[in-house]
Amino acid sequence: MVIDAVEEKKEIINRYRRLLRKAKPILEPGDAKLIKKAFTISLEAHKDMRRKSGEPYIFHPLAVAEICVEEIGLGTTSVISALLHDVVEDTDIELSDIERMFGKKITRIIDGLTKISGVFEYGTSAQAENFRKMLFTLSEDVRVILIKLADRLHNMRTLGSMPRNKQLKVASETIYLYAPLAHRLGLNAIKSELEDLYLRFTEEGVYDEIMGKIDDTRASRNKFIKAFISPIKDELDKLKIEYDIKSRPKSAHSIWNKMRKQNIPFEEIYDLFAVRIILDAPLDQEKSCCWQVYSIVTDYYTPNPDRLRDWISTPKANGYESLHTTVMAKNGQWVEVQIRTRRMDEIAEKGYAAHWKYKDSNSTHESNLEKWLVHVRELLERQDLSALEFVDDFRGNLFNEEIFVFTPKGELKTLPNGATALDFAFEIHTDVGARCIGAKVNQKLVPINHVLKNGDQIEILTSAKQNPTEDWLRFVVSSKAKSKIKDVLKEDKKAVAEEGKEILLRKLKQIKVDPNSQMFEKMRAYFRVNSQFDLNFKVGKGLITVNDLKRFKDYKPASPIKSKPQINDARTIEQEISKAKGRYDDILLIGEDMDVVEYKLAKCCTPIPGDEVFGFVTVNEGIKIHRSNCPNATELLANHGNRVIKAKWTSQHEVAFLTGLKIIGTDRVGLINDVSKIISEELKVNMSSISFRVDSGIFHGEIMLYVNDTRHLDFLIRKLEKVEGVVTVNRFDSRNIDSANQEKVNA
Ligand code: MN
Repeated sequence: MVIDAVEEKKEIINRYRRLLRKAKPILEPGDAKLIKKAFTISLEAHKDMRRKSGEPYIFHPLAVAEICVEEIGLGTTSVISALLHDVVEDTDIELSDIERMFGKKITRIIDGLTKISGVFEYGTSAQAENFRKMLFTLSEDVRVILIKLADRLHNMRTLGSMPRNKQLKVASETIYLYAPLAHRLGLNAIKSELEDLYLRFTEEGVYDEIMGKIDDTRASRNKFIKAFISPIKDELDKLKIEYDIKSRPKSAHSIWNKMRKQNIPFEEIYDLFAVRIILDAPLDQEKSCCWQVYSIVTDYYTPNPDRLRDWISTPKANGYESLHTTVMAKNGQWVEVQIRTRRMDEIAEKGYAAHWKYKDSNSTHESNLEKWLVHVRELLERQDLSALEFVDDFRGNLFNEEIFVFTPKGELKTLPNGATALDFAFEIHTDVGARCIGAKVNQKLVPINHVLKNGDQIEILTSAKQNPTEDWLRFVVSSKAKSKIKDVLKEDKKAVAEEGKEILLRKLKQIKVDPNSQMFEKMRAYFRVNSQFDLNFKVGKGLITVNDLKRFKDYKPASPIKSKPQINDARTIEQEISKAKGRYDDILLIGEDMDVVEYKLAKCCTPIPGDEVFGFVTVNEGIKIHRSNCPNATELLANHGNRVIKAKWTSQHEVAFLTGLKIIGTDRVGLINDVSKIISEELKVNMSSISFRVDSGIFHGEIMLYVNDTRHLDFLIRKLEKVEGVVTVNRFDSRNIDSANQEKVNA
């Protein structure tokens, strides 16, 4: 690539000026000077670096700063931090330098944005550790996350120039953590864009198809909307209030979700777009204005009574306020109409930062976010959680729409969708939760795992004799209840382990074994436990008896255990691969050098040649190959990216691979026969198992069979689709959830 240094310098200055222009409305006296200083330092520090696309590195911090200003609505401190966000991690500049030049506040933010360097212990996750570290800073300053989201958004926008395995890793991490986080902070525009970019880089074909269809239907959609809003407009004009009517199709990602969840084609999605009416209403008349518009809309169109959502009276926990209704248009089509004020609209799009702008006006909604932050802080203070557990709990807190329920005295409580009576009990108080034996929901007696609905009124029943068990973890969805139950269980476990410790020492004395540390180490290996705590616990529980201890005493290893090279991450295994080079004759190439090594195919997604795949280094079973769209892929890539290695099919040998097909059709005599005939006779494919079921006239078949590659499979699917009575033929992802879980990290 030829680089025109003069042109490039011009472009850098252009982009810097653009940033200043956009930041201008928020600048206070003296700010411009500080921003210039940060820019100069960043430019100099990154001067020899380029992004994967070949662009000068400084384009990246400049873009992140611009997103902070324009799309999140942040101020000077954030602009400076964004400009400097990569210098400590990637250049010689240290945190102490930043502190000297810009002070403590900015230093803390940049520290939160800098990855932990060094090696991670096996079984931990670098990604999870870094995520937790970033959130630690959050308890002091929310801006860390907002800048991180801007950073992630720009990286996702420019993901095209990254190598494929990096794309998958970054995209998975984004959908696993950052998009839900953006949602939780109310940054809807950024959340939608992150999700769409995820889809674009993981399911390119699907993404292109959906975008193409949105384009193709634009003209007819616009015509429809024009006719739909025309009578509403006439009425609104009479009211003499300022308003805007917008209509946007749903994001590609949410369309894709709908298609998958309801198993319907694009054409059958009825709520492809929503009509949004945005009003300029004075603060004290917001609610009545919105309902007035609701009244106008429903004068013309009949509303669906089940689809009225009033998030003005009770905003969502992330601050979202809006009035939604779904009405029947004149052509028999349902249309969602969203009614809100300009203030509500800005908060819906920009979220957290926009809240501060309207700080005085809306204390309840702000306190919802504040409550959430308090909970995150609590979670961060728990030192017994590993980073992975933390990320898991934290995510549990990001998802789900919430429901509103009431205490017997009528106090409103917000719980995640799917919450049970037990969740509610823990929401009231830890002791109430731990002693909960059941509840009365709307006066009716229900068990502790009863799932609550919007508007339920709940009275918790307790008993002093009640004690939480492991099972309870399956009865709750809120992370608050989960962590409280874990606490109680841990306390119980501690008591058992304490007792076990005493028993163990006594028993060892009986059988005359000297309790020194070397002996305990051998003992832990013999009983296959990870820690002394687990060993004590097992003894306390009676899972290790005195006879077991005697057997351990008499046990002599046949030969000293050879220490195998410890395989910690993908890099180590790639070195091992090089040593083994050329020994195997197979068709899957693995690692940076695209070598041929031994592997196993993951049972959760049963990849076959032609599938896009990646390798995952497991603890005991070497490399496992997963499909990129495996149900477990997102979690593996998001938490254990360092154990992921590239893998690619090359040639397609005549090797058979096991895969599954799901056939749905109308039941008719002879259908099973026709299907199996095609499979075994005409196509000479081997079936490993076949099962059929007929359910009120609908026929469901599941076949496990051996094919050579995806082309072979597609051919087979097309052939089966032509059988009379067959409606759909689909490959299925996972045979069952259990086998999928076993395939996870430690398999
Ligand atoms: Mn960055």
